[in-house]
Amino acid sequence: MNKRFPPVPVGGTVPLSPEEMLDDGAREIIARLNAGGYEAYAVGGCVRDRLLGKIPDDYDVATSATPEQTREIFSERYSLPTGLKHGTVTVLVRGKGYEVTSFRTEGEYEDGRRPSSVFFVRDLKEDLRRRDFTVNALAYHPNEGIIDLYEGLSDLKNGIVRAVGEPERRFSEDALRILRAVRFSSVLRFRVEEKTASAAIRMAERLDLVSAERKSVELKKLLLGEGARSALLDFAGVIVRVVPELAPCVGFEQNSRWHRYDVYEHIARSVEACPKDTVLRLTMLLHDVGKPSRYSEKDGQGHFYGHEAVSARLAKNALERLKIDNKTKNTVVKLISLHGRPFPVKEYKLKKLLAETGREDALRLLDVAFADNAAQGTEPAAREREKIDGAKERILGLLRSGEPYEISMLKVSGEDLSVLGFRGKEIGEELCRLLDACMRGELKNERETLLARAAERGGERRS
Ligand code: ATP
Ligand code: MG
Repeated sequence: MNKRFPPVPVGGTVPLSPEEMLDDGAREIIARLNAGGYEAYAVGGCVRDRLLGKIPDDYDVATSATPEQTREIFSERYSLPTGLKHGTVTVLVRGKGYEVTSFRTEGEYEDGRRPSSVFFVRDLKEDLRRRDFTVNALAYHPNEGIIDLYEGLSDLKNGIVRAVGEPERRFSEDALRILRAVRFSSVLRFRVEEKTASAAIRMAERLDLVSAERKSVELKKLLLGEGARSALLDFAGVIVRVVPELAPCVGFEQNSRWHRYDVYEHIARSVEACPKDTVLRLTMLLHDVGKPSRYSEKDGQGHFYGHEAVSARLAKNALERLKIDNKTKNTVVKLISLHGRPFPVKEYKLKKLLAETGREDALRLLDVAFADNAAQGTEPAAREREKIDGAKERILGLLRSGEPYEISMLKVSGEDLSVLGFRGKEIGEELCRLLDACMRGELKNERETLLARAAERGGERRS
């Protein structure tokens, strides 16, 4: 028998009327499936998030209708067969997509990778049982309220990530759940229940069976979590299975007056100290992975000369293995290779840095520097912060001033120069000279001035 609960507020002001629990589209989909004689419930992340007072990114619906029946109800035009094999149809309501999945259970797992087959089942109970964690196994119906078969509500109230059923069994069915447990503890700031946590740590090796794509989705979400630091620290054994480059960092003491924490803890703290952005957080996760191999000691102080380049190389390997997109990978690797460099004080050199990084990455480098500094945890490091504040002011000032640091910012173009008689690579060379003169403050970035200087030089050349 299904255990049915009336809606129960979870901690504080929780909206629970159907209007507040679901958006219009999800309510409409459930109503139309019900009118067609089928059961239908909102399930999973959207129920959890609404009860936590968050706005879900998307609403998932589970139904007793088969995918074909779902498509009949919503017509071909408003439904897309996005995952028929898994029983999923995407229903469009006013342009927004909702995943509607037939109640299902999963067949035998061959190797902990993926269910080898999916069986459709009659009832919601079976469908909820195959879900990973109790807080993800809640369902909601506008007339029935919350359906809580696995004590998800109490775990939600107490902030606990707990496997549905036997953790070991659930993790051997699908090892990705090991990483998902850590992800949810980071994103929700929940504690992982003891048996679930110890199984996750014990079985971390099984993550090797899971595809890189599935792991990197979870890793990225984990890094963006509110509780990323504790999740990374408490589950280091799981994390190094996904990013083995981090393994030598765990417990690696820095013996430096600049650093209070070992390399791994410094990394974990720096992740949480930087803005919630995938590029930045991946950068922090990998920025010091080269440190252990570059350790040396002088006068009892640890040093890591040249670790930035080693970290950048290891990071590239890690990101390629995780199949992170090229744009993200290239930016992360670039930021890591630049992360130890002090920000120049001289304006010309600062402009050179901007020329090298571009505006966006220069701003990112500042975020990296602040996060790196905040995670050092020592007095001398705290005093360094002022320097980064100063660099930030200078960089922002420079960007506001509109002074050129790139050829595209010059008030003359290659075409102008070819009118003046410059040809082929002379054009680029002259533009570089003009830019450099502007950056040094010897020339104003004004069209007439630049044209006059170029004409002079063109004239010299021809005479
Ligand atoms: P998010 O807010 O990040 O989307 P979510 O809980 O919706 O979080 P999804 O990955 O979108 O997470 O999965 C939707 C639901 O499907 C989960 O809430 C859970 O019930 C179920 N689920 C997803 N992946 C698994 C898995 N590997 N094993 C068991 N159940 C899963
Ligand atoms: Mg989701």
